[in-house]
Amino acid sequence: MKIVFATGNPHKLKEIKEIAGNSDIEFILPADGFAPVENGKTFEENSLIKAKEAARVSKMISLADDSGLCVEALNGEPGIRSARYADTPQARIDKLLKAVEPFENRRAEFVCAMTLVDENGNILHTAKGICKGTIAKTQSGNGGFGYDPIFLIEGKNKTMAELSENEKNEISHRGKALRKILELLTP
Ligand code: IMP
Repeated sequence: MKIVFATGNPHKLKEIKEIAGNSDIEFILPADGFAPVENGKTFEENSLIKAKEAARVSKMISLADDSGLCVEALNGEPGIRSARYADTPQARIDKLLKAVEPFENRRAEFVCAMTLVDENGNILHTAKGICKGTIAKTQSGNGGFGYDPIFLIEGKNKTMAELSENEKNEISHRGKALRKILELLTP
């Protein structure tokens, strides 16, 4: 079964393909013209916007992931603005480290909201995955993407970027959300 994965982010597509590994689903990119306007106020709303836009251009069942990093001391920021928090991945990390510096509370969580819609944009399933941790004082590790090098996983003495791809997918917000969707799809 082919499902469109509503993204322009190659890192997310790679992870999704790996997580879905031995299911019989093949994820493909949206058709040309995919240009979602992510003006929702929540991860859920933005994930629905992306899924509907992918279905509109592709006329196929479509899955979207809207995700981000929510930091407790920053009232949930950068949250849905995680991708736009600063201009480059390194600038986003630097800005976040600086913003958290004054706080003793460094608790944070990665959140992923997924929405699966049919070829007409009607919701089939939704799922949410959360991965808890804290913001490290310095970055470490080369794996993953985005904020992974500064996210210390709860119960492990490692950042998300220090895990192997498989280890990340086992515990990540994206892995948790996608496995729920896959269960709902397989009777
Ligand atoms: P979206 O494309 O609007 O969902 O943006 C998600 C943004 O949140 C990404 O560009 C990253 O900055 C951040 N993010 C989401 N998931 C992850 C992850 O697994 N690791 C690190 N950063 C992530």
